[in-house]
Amino acid sequence: MDEAHLREDTLDLADGELQALFDGAERLARHEIDATRSGPVFEGTPSAARVRALLEGEQRVPLEGEPLAFVLERCGAILAAGRRTAPTFFGYVQSPASPVGVAADLLASAADQNVTSWRSAPAATELELLTIRWLGQFVRFSDDAEGLLLGGGSAANLTALLWALRTQTSPGADRRALVVYASHEAHFSAAKAAEVLGTSFHPIAVDGRRRLDVRALTDAIAADRAGGREPLCVVATAGSTSTGAVDQIGEIALVTAEHNLWLHVDGAYGAPAASVDSQHHLFSGIEHADSVAIDAHKWLYAPLDCGALLVRRGRHQRAASWSGDADYVRVLAGDPGEEFAFWDHGLELSRRFRALKLWMIFRHYGARRIAAAIEGDIAMARHMADRVLACKDLELLADPGLSICCFRHRPPTVEQSALDSHNERLLKLLQHEGSVYLSNVTVDGHFGLRACITNYRTTRRDVDRTLEVVRALGSQIGEGSRADGVG
Ligand SMILES: *Cc1c(COP(=O)(O)O)cnc(C)c1O
Repeated sequence: MDEAHLREDTLDLADGELQALFDGAERLARHEIDATRSGPVFEGTPSAARVRALLEGEQRVPLEGEPLAFVLERCGAILAAGRRTAPTFFGYVQSPASPVGVAADLLASAADQNVTSWRSAPAATELELLTIRWLGQFVRFSDDAEGLLLGGGSAANLTALLWALRTQTSPGADRRALVVYASHEAHFSAAKAAEVLGTSFHPIAVDGRRRLDVRALTDAIAADRAGGREPLCVVATAGSTSTGAVDQIGEIALVTAEHNLWLHVDGAYGAPAASVDSQHHLFSGIEHADSVAIDAHKWLYAPLDCGALLVRRGRHQRAASWSGDADYVRVLAGDPGEEFAFWDHGLELSRRFRALKLWMIFRHYGARRIAAAIEGDIAMARHMADRVLACKDLELLADPGLSICCFRHRPPTVEQSALDSHNERLLKLLQHEGSVYLSNVTVDGHFGLRACITNYRTTRRDVDRTLEVVRALGSQIGEGSRADGVG
């Protein structure tokens, strides 16, 4: 860099400083990846007081800057006070970031291309459309899917409903009369999306395997029609967040075809499992969907955030024809491909280069290895279920669905009526202890412990160790409550 011509107020770094910054950042990044490889989930007991203490004295915006070395050191302390997606982290639905994805995100930030449209980011736009097609092939939805990347499953579900609305109805339609259907086990973002768009939402009962009850769906559609409402869209859940149940997409597709409704598959968590030969039958019918949501940050090992919304080619009306004739969106182009703009399809204008990480992950690992890792996660959940069944003081609450295992601690010393509160106390202790992590679930009205395994680093030993922690903490509580009773 020629430093002679720099502005006095430049924020740029001298070459030496830049080198030191990247060396320091690389050290921190490598430390995070190493710490995430082995755990624990929390380095110390997580508490609001501890995190606030870390930021003490920082309540006012800093007026004067500090040396980079110092800032990096503080940065390391803040990262270490967070939660890591270690091999014994089984909460929520989150895969660890594959190192390839981490590097891709760094490069995307360095290039900092704004993926609003082809004219603003030509290569990034082409790459995004390409990775969307790859995803469609990967989950066997369609070989030439269209769509876009977005923040996550919630944004994907909202955008899918927007497409359904614009494709299936006229602009003046009474939105309250339009009805969106999804099962009681569907992710709450489906109902939220309906509310945002002002349509009605009709939750549908589930069958014994926690899948949308297709008969109940047909009845609901008939009743709504009879009541003067207009069915619009069915959201089929492909991998429910609680138990991993996959709705019968093929059966639902028959209903949506008969009634001319939009079929959206919420595969935010589960859709990647459709790439696994032994699981694909669960997703049969996905090829009839109009749109599919997939979160690459959940089960494709991409760092946050990376949601995807796929749509059958040519199926949807543009989402944003209201960009109208504003000058800043007027595209001057020759090749029709160069006129492409994501703002016509989604809600956002400025967007980061998310496709780079997907592209690098697929190029480096290949679809086969990724599918094998997903299959391995499913095998870990099965292993956990088998271990639970083999332990007298543990009870399996549901057959594992995809890579989710739900169970509870059930020692003979705890009364049936006290099992919910016993397991709730256990989970609180476990999350506080910090070496392993489970989240909570309600299955058939029972409070349960839930493990979602989406981590290619998780081994049987990690699963066994987690169950040991559950049993040890559980029996401590058992003893505690007996002691309380005596006292
Ligand atoms: C997690 C999840 C969502 C929401 O995805 P975000 O990326 O968190 O917005 C939607 N649907 C299902 C089935 C999910 O598991």
